[in-house]
Amino acid sequence: MSETVKVMVRARPINKREIAEGSRLCVECDRKTNQVILKKPSDPSEMPKAFTYDSCYDWNSTQRSVYDEGAFPLVESVIEGYNGTIFAYGQTGCGKTHTMMGYKDDPAERGIIPNAFEHIFGYIDQADTKTIKFLVRCSYLEIYNEDIRDLLGKNVDAKLELKEDPNKGVFVKDLTCFVVKTISEIEKLMQQGSGNRKVGETAMNKDSSRSHSIFTIYIETSEDIGQDEPRIKAGKLNLVDLAGSERQSKTQAEGVRLKEATKINLSLSALGNVISALVDGKSQHIPYRDSKLTRLLQDSLGGNTKTLMIAAISPSDFNYDETLSTLRYASRAK
Ligand code: ADP
Ligand code: MG
Repeated sequence: MSETVKVMVRARPINKREIAEGSRLCVECDRKTNQVILKKPSDPSEMPKAFTYDSCYDWNSTQRSVYDEGAFPLVESVIEGYNGTIFAYGQTGCGKTHTMMGYKDDPAERGIIPNAFEHIFGYIDQADTKTIKFLVRCSYLEIYNEDIRDLLGKNVDAKLELKEDPNKGVFVKDLTCFVVKTISEIEKLMQQGSGNRKVGETAMNKDSSRSHSIFTIYIETSEDIGQDEPRIKAGKLNLVDLAGSERQSKTQAEGVRLKEATKINLSLSALGNVISALVDGKSQHIPYRDSKLTRLLQDSLGGNTKTLMIAAISPSDFNYDETLSTLRYASRAK
């Protein structure tokens, strides 16, 4: 098991439509062994399949427990000056956005991103401002069809370039980065950026997202440690809501949609390859260069960083095949 990459599986509740259409549960999460068991209720002769992860959560889980047990330690290490990445992976409609964003107006239903804001600013508020100073900035971008768009920029439709610099590493040229001093400032930026996301209509979900979004929080601290120079730390937290992982046949994709699906699959398979190479630990070559997503996250995946992958699944037997493929993808990261 890797210390730097953790994998969590979360099954959403069955919904009214699935119940009305006679769907049955096909997933069990064992919190003690962290096993997810997948069964086919329509075919009892099919052997149940079991997968083990770092943690698993079913429909009774709360946003708070997902944050405290999964995200909290990673965000703490970002405050300490390390880079970290939290991904939500899975089929459209399985709870990626619910887990990352949730509903901001209900404190119990807030997802990882607003909880991270509260965590970071809560930490800053209780720090001794005589000896330690913080600089928090954020950016928000979207990768759509392998094009990068600045969700906080003046021109959201402009395509931004990925550049490489010997000192800075890989970066997005001209990406807007705002300094934020309060929770309400950062929340406003998150909402503004979310409103600028590309939304595509597929047969599976009418507002399914066909793009990957990355909300990044940069935290710099300068601490007086009684010497000539202050101690400087800089950490970066990437909060990633990936595009739906469903295969295109299911969504009856054609034309533009099919082109998107091909590029989405490219980034998702590149991400899977990078993570499994990191977890494997033996690979000499980590294939970061294979997609924009992995190039962009290069300095926050592997090495001295922490990664949390949350695989969102449906509990309904209607989604058996997609759930199996998500569970397999997530177990490659183990
Ligand atoms: P995705 O972003 O993966 O396409 P969403 O997060 O939009 O999926 O979730 C689809 C629907 O299921 C939404 O209506 C969402 O509120 C609901 N949902 C997802 N996960 C949960 C959960 N753990 N608890 C309650 N509702 C959930
Ligand atoms: Mg979503």
